Amino acid sequence: MAQEDVFKKIVSHCKEYGFVFPSSDIYDGLGAVYDYGQNGVELKNNIKRYWWESMVLLHDNIVGIDSAIFMHPTIWKASGHVDAFNDPLIDNRDSKKRYRADVLIEEQLAKMDDKIEKEVAKAAKRFGESFDEAQFRSTNERVLEHSNKREALHQRFAKALNDSNLEELRQIIIDEEIVCPISGTKNWTEVRQFNLMFNTDMGSTSDGAMKVYLRPETAQGIFVNYLNVQKTGRMKIPFGIAQIGKAFRNEIVARQFIFRMREFEQMEMQFFVRPGEELEWFKQWKETRLKWHKALGFGDKSYRYHDHDKLAHYANAATDIEFLMPFGYKEVEGIHSRTNFDLSQHEKYSGKSIKYFDPELNESYTPYVIETSIGVDRMFLSVMCASYCEEQLENGESRVVLKLPAPLAPIKLAVMPLIKKDGLPEKAREIIDTLKFEFTCQYDEKDSIGKRYRRQDAIGTPYCVTVDHQTLEDDCVTIRFRDTMEQERVPVKELSNIISEKVCMKSLLKKI
Ligand code: ATP
Repeated sequence: MAQEDVFKKIVSHCKEYGFVFPSSDIYDGLGAVYDYGQNGVELKNNIKRYWWESMVLLHDNIVGIDSAIFMHPTIWKASGHVDAFNDPLIDNRDSKKRYRADVLIEEQLAKMDDKIEKEVAKAAKRFGESFDEAQFRSTNERVLEHSNKREALHQRFAKALNDSNLEELRQIIIDEEIVCPISGTKNWTEVRQFNLMFNTDMGSTSDGAMKVYLRPETAQGIFVNYLNVQKTGRMKIPFGIAQIGKAFRNEIVARQFIFRMREFEQMEMQFFVRPGEELEWFKQWKETRLKWHKALGFGDKSYRYHDHDKLAHYANAATDIEFLMPFGYKEVEGIHSRTNFDLSQHEKYSGKSIKYFDPELNESYTPYVIETSIGVDRMFLSVMCASYCEEQLENGESRVVLKLPAPLAPIKLAVMPLIKKDGLPEKAREIIDTLKFEFTCQYDEKDSIGKRYRRQDAIGTPYCVTVDHQTLEDDCVTIRFRDTMEQERVPVKELSNIISEKVCMKSLLKKI
């Protein structure tokens, strides 16, 4: 099946099974804003818990905070967001559609990558086991031609971005003959800068009102609280502050479902270090964060690093962790070495000293910062894409199963009476009543057992437990495993042990 179709199926699966709904659905939605349904919120909370515990529980030098969305407007002046949080945008005059100029060029680069990968895949098939991929990549004429073209474009693009040269970005789009996907024409406007921050008024009178911003990142809430936490928690450098919260960006092109939203959630951790040690810590956090992703078991090939061509105004090193979505490798997390830019700016704009006195060095300095910043919603999408599976079964039927890592699954077990009478529902309820303190359980008595299994497969429930007449005599139930569909007869009192071994967060955290 084409990857585009797979993605469409995942989007409709999300709606059909209560994971994600368009916001304001009965009013035909609101662009790039989404709501999480009954299963979505559980999965999302589990992702957040996995992240939070991996930071705060596993590191005794990382603590959490929860700062407000509204902050003093000068913060955004100090951070550079008022002046520089811009995207270069370009309009197509025929379709009247607006695009990010950098994204159009990145898509062109991805097309070139695709061509190279197709050549490699074709050759791998032709040569079979004797295929030497590295040699092929470095000698094949067609691959070399594509690679050279790609490299030239890449360099030109990186330079234009670094110089903030909007005319050159437009010229690249013209020279590469990039067309608007809607109108198919090359009738492009100039490239302009567009600030992504939402703002609103705070205060009751119009002349006394203050313009405040909806935060475009959670990080600044950490920076302005850094000294409060350091002092009250008696934190010693190196230490980190973690936060999960909403962020808002007036994205120009909102496409690809929950990949690019106007209201989204971030999980950010700022790690404060001694000046000069930041690149070592950057390397370490890059590795730790990739391990966190890989522990989910979706396969190492699903991830890659992407080092930034254009460093943000505050960074001296930056990389993305990209995940292979059905629409290509895409950023899920950013890891940035932000120098002491933010703290120094806040010192300058607030007029207050926020230096750290290092007792070991016997000197004061403004700490350097390594940031790990991951979007909850993008992570959610990557988990959905990696878990969605359509399987042909031996009996000729097919099933859709979400092979979610068990600790992330919204429902951990479904308890089903074989029939709706003879005391079986009561027994099923009794089992739930003992297990509900540990696991999210669901009671299901409607339809045939086969249909009930399919429903649970579709939302990724790792275990189904069936109560039958025999259960009333021997206190044993049939437990069915989602991925293998195998069934086993086990005593009710064993259920808790069997299930908790796989579904507890500890099993994931231990792999990091
Ligand atoms: P992009 O280049 O895709 O716009 P970014 O580099 O601006 O992303 P960061 O500012 O580094 O993103 O934000 C950190 C993380 O927040 C991203 O890796 C992503 O997971 C998430 N994120 C950023 N913008 C959005 C958005 N509009 N919708 C959902 N998640 C987002």
